[in-house]
Amino acid sequence: MDVRIIYTIVNLIILFGLIWFFARKFIAKDFLSRSFRNRRENINRQLDEAAEAISIAKSTEDIMFSEEKAAEEKLVVIKDEYAKRTAEKINGIMSSCGEERYAMLRENDRLLSGLRAEMYETVRNNAIKKAKEAALQLMSKEPYASAFREKEKEIAESILSKIAITPGDMVYLKQKDILYVTLTSTYPLEQDLVDEIGKQATVIVEQAGGKISYWVKTDVSLVGGLKLRIGDTVYDGTISDLLYRMTKTIGQKTIEEDFSAQKFADTLINNVKNTKMDIGVYQLGRVVSISDGICWLDGLADIMYGEVVEFISAGERGMILDIEPCKIGCIVFGRYEHIEAGDKVRRIKHMAAVPVGEAQVGRVVNPLGVPIDGLGTIRTSEYRPVEFHAPAILDRQSVSVPLHTGIKAIDALVPIGRGQRELIIGDRQTGKTSIAVDTIINQKGKNVICIYVAVGQKETTVADIMSKLKKFGAMEYTVIVCADAYSSASMQYIAPFAGTAIGEYFMYKGRDVLMVYDDLSKHAVAYRELSLLLHRPSGREAYPGDVFYLHSRLLERSARLSAESGGGSMTALPIIETQAGDISAYIPTNVISITDGQIFLETGLFNEGQRPAVNVGLSVSRVGGAAQNPFMKKTAASLRLNLAQYRELESFAQFGSDVDENTKKVLESGARIMAALNQPRYSPLPDDREALIIFAVTEGYAAKVSPADIGKFEKALFEYFDSMHSDLLKIIGSTVKPSSEDIANIKKALTAYVESY
Ligand code: ATP
Ligand code: MG
Repeated sequence: MDVRIIYTIVNLIILFGLIWFFARKFIAKDFLSRSFRNRRENINRQLDEAAEAISIAKSTEDIMFSEEKAAEEKLVVIKDEYAKRTAEKINGIMSSCGEERYAMLRENDRLLSGLRAEMYETVRNNAIKKAKEAALQLMSKEPYASAFREKEKEIAESILSKIAITPGDMVYLKQKDILYVTLTSTYPLEQDLVDEIGKQATVIVEQAGGKISYWVKTDVSLVGGLKLRIGDTVYDGTISDLLYRMTKTIGQKTIEEDFSAQKFADTLINNVKNTKMDIGVYQLGRVVSISDGICWLDGLADIMYGEVVEFISAGERGMILDIEPCKIGCIVFGRYEHIEAGDKVRRIKHMAAVPVGEAQVGRVVNPLGVPIDGLGTIRTSEYRPVEFHAPAILDRQSVSVPLHTGIKAIDALVPIGRGQRELIIGDRQTGKTSIAVDTIINQKGKNVICIYVAVGQKETTVADIMSKLKKFGAMEYTVIVCADAYSSASMQYIAPFAGTAIGEYFMYKGRDVLMVYDDLSKHAVAYRELSLLLHRPSGREAYPGDVFYLHSRLLERSARLSAESGGGSMTALPIIETQAGDISAYIPTNVISITDGQIFLETGLFNEGQRPAVNVGLSVSRVGGAAQNPFMKKTAASLRLNLAQYRELESFAQFGSDVDENTKKVLESGARIMAALNQPRYSPLPDDREALIIFAVTEGYAAKVSPADIGKFEKALFEYFDSMHSDLLKIIGSTVKPSSEDIANIKKALTAYVESY
């Protein structure tokens, strides 16, 4: 038995040994070669894939960076062009002299920096566009697309962790009892995932006491990922939205922060690689109708008044001005012809704002802060809201520093202090704008930033003002915010607010600012137009009920800040145009009651040749007296008295020529004073000279001079004091009360001058 078993075993061993001996070569060869072949094929395939991925990546990179390379070449061309132009100009500059040369150089400089900024901006925008296209291409190709598909579940989880019912959805649920939930993915999702998302959405809506209507869609234009819309809120985990958000944040950065396509690509890849992909949460609405720049929307459940929305396909922006139960009224900034009913509108969760900064000084911008003077892009890094609360009472201090206009009649009789609001009011063509422009020119060297806001003015008027300001070197410290007559009512409506926001930037930095609003009647008309289009009930003169609030909230932002709050100030010179001198119309009375006084310009006086045609009887300054020089204050008191007497008698004197000697004297002196208050445009005077000439005339030193010759008398007087008594001019202009001895000296000098004249 044992022997047999041993035989069998031995036989089997021999058999296997023989088989192994003969078949060894074939088995090993076949087995090994097959496994090697497999491996080689594998390696080859991987190599091919890698090569393909590299070639895709390479071509993408090429697209991304070619733009930048092209830009660098372009920049060289621009620099050459600029050098050529400068060379041409330099002869002209060198032949001019002093101040003019300086101004030309500055202008040139500004042009260059603007051009360069613009250049970089276009390059950057193009690069963003190209990078976006390239990224889209990349993400829609293998192996990236399928790699991203594996993340769908994670994205769905992040979305589900974010979903909530917003107050707007609550309101909708209360009314309709049902909430629409839409799941959109790039490629069809697994049924389990779809069901899971539906289940969780149902739970959250049922908790809020409603039902859901669940819709599932696919859309390849999303490039990758999925999004869920509950009510008006979208939870977006798609690549297309990721790209949108990335381009937006890059677009907001300043050029100095430097954008490169490389960085963009890196961020994108990082974002996609990241297991927790960022989910964008935003709200959507839809255009219901659009007409005359007013757009009615629905959706956008939680939108707030004054918020900015973006029209997705048109690219324009708008601001919410009306919220009603079933519709939302929005004004469109810019063109609105290409916006269609049904267009999607996206909430971007910030209030209307303008870019602000030092770089705006010397420029002309539209109410959105976009330059319109052809000097290129403005580099700023800050935004300020268009609507901002006025400084609180505790942050203010009373007016005490003068803001000289350089106009005799105004500085003597209606003095303006820094932080004051003084209305310039009068019929058309009575010199309102001229006063404001002269005031701006007079701020040269006084460290005041001036902002001229043109609302509904003719383009030629604005161009003329700009060239005049340039000529007198006043553009160096001035910003012009222009919404001309051609601009839409929405632009005209926000212009003063935008200008104020630009001014506030400087005020809160402790600087002094002068705001000119030319003019608020046209602003009120633009607002009336908007309100009527928004179907708001019209009140007196068809203006909406809140037109007072419109101007009060604008002008209340002017203030003199206390030292603790930085000590800056904002002085406002709003302008109002009256019809046939009627200051009791709706808008004039409103603005008169808001401001701290008014300068009333009269057509009659203007036609008589009085320039500026200030009616001293109706003009007042309620707070500016505190900011007047002591000498001027004293002089102005007797001036006011003299003028009052003159005006009283003047009307009587018109009836008969028979007047007694005393009356005749008062009339003559009055005419002389009126002549002395005459002042041509663009010739503001320093305050000491203003006080000197008014003192001389009111104190009777010009008694022998006819009113027509007052101009000559004044000129010679200034020359005399300049050469002989500059110390006395200093006393007159000082903020210290002059002693009786000083006054006596001034009088003595005047007597000496009159004798020699
Ligand atoms: P509008 O109603 O058109 O805005 P306005 O009230 O702003 O007019 P301005 O444009 O300032 O008035 O001036 C009207 C005219 O009065 C101008 O042609 C200007 O030359 C003239 N003018 C204004 N002030 C003076 C002045 N001080 N000396 C001489 N001319 C003046
Ligand atoms: Mg004007």
